[in-house]
Amino acid sequence: MTDAVIKGFTELYGAEPDGVWAAPGRVNLIGEYTDFNDGFVMPLALPHTAVAAVTRRDDGVLRLHSADADGGIVQLRADELAPLGSGSGGWAAYPAGVVWALREAGHAVGGADIHLTSTVPTGAGLSSSAALEVVTALALNDLYELGLSGAELAVVAQRAENAFVGVPCGIMDQTAAACCTEGHALHLDTRDLTRRQVPFDLAAHGLELLVVDTRVKHALGDGAYAERREGCEAGARALGVTALRDVPYAGLRAALESLGDERIRRYVRHVVSENHRVEQVIGLLDASDPRAVGPLLTEGHVSLRDDLRVSCAELDLVVESANAAGALGARMTGGGFGGSAIVLVESSASDTVTKSVETAFAATSRTAPRIFRAIPAQGAHRVA
Ligand code: ADP
Ligand code: MG
Repeated sequence: MTDAVIKGFTELYGAEPDGVWAAPGRVNLIGEYTDFNDGFVMPLALPHTAVAAVTRRDDGVLRLHSADADGGIVQLRADELAPLGSGSGGWAAYPAGVVWALREAGHAVGGADIHLTSTVPTGAGLSSSAALEVVTALALNDLYELGLSGAELAVVAQRAENAFVGVPCGIMDQTAAACCTEGHALHLDTRDLTRRQVPFDLAAHGLELLVVDTRVKHALGDGAYAERREGCEAGARALGVTALRDVPYAGLRAALESLGDERIRRYVRHVVSENHRVEQVIGLLDASDPRAVGPLLTEGHVSLRDDLRVSCAELDLVVESANAAGALGARMTGGGFGGSAIVLVESSASDTVTKSVETAFAATSRTAPRIFRAIPAQGAHRVA
């Protein structure tokens, strides 16, 4: 892909790029809808990446091009960027937002010529947007010698998505794209942003993690995210804590009994139990017992389905058909209402489980899902 992106850049802009950078998509192993509750998440980077060829320009002109989008080159000026705040800026708002956010943070970033392409499926819950932001941030960090760390670039990229693009996402996706390392899942505390790389070498244990992209996206998602977020914040207020992360698992029953609103009770139960599941998964991985992670994935799915109510028929079908065919566990990953699920399987059962999921989709006349293996890849890096 590197050669193709260099060739594409050269054809577009008439000279070779200063360099080429890559940033991956991700799946979240466990810790869903916890990141706006100051909780824990545990993403791993996918081998799918956004790749950007970039040349610095000192005249303040910003030229953006995606091989995957229609409409040719988008030309802007770095010093004239202003947030649209409505999500209506098209794909170019992601890289442009990064330039804006870097400048807002006081970094002397000017123009650039950017040509990018990506193998991260878009809108599949695999975070193609963060890959785009982080690859742009890393390229500008190098070309303008900003000296920012991966974690700092993630914060800038999140700001770009929140304030410039207008999407109220948490910090997980950008941190995953920037900070994940090969062979590991990233334990991230979204309150203080402390991180730990947790070894996640499934192959050594005869296991595989499958990603099943349902290829559906239900429109419900956007408003539902804001509603869940608001409900969780109301729960924290009612319980007198800064965020639901502050409710200890041992205190969950008492907390639930004190809440009058059934909806808020469900949301609190999800967040507090999900945070606990992250800690349990880490304990199992540290104890070299990844098989036992399976049931926790399914437990997490049931919680997202029944308590938070962010699943959908297709995601439930993946989990049910995979588990019925002998998977160790499965759950939706990402925001839900479509997108992708993950399935933990014995390597020896991988084909059987894959076929069963495909058969279940075919039997209900659904579009065939896209199924691939998640092998924890490295975070954003320079490739040329
Ligand atoms: P996700 O991050 O889960 O894939 P989002 O809706 O957050 O879904 O981001 C998808 C958006 O990111 C696309 O609609 C598009 O605007 C932008 N995007 C992602 N990859 C590319 C690409 N290769 N070229 C242009 N735009 C892209
Ligand atoms: Mg996204």
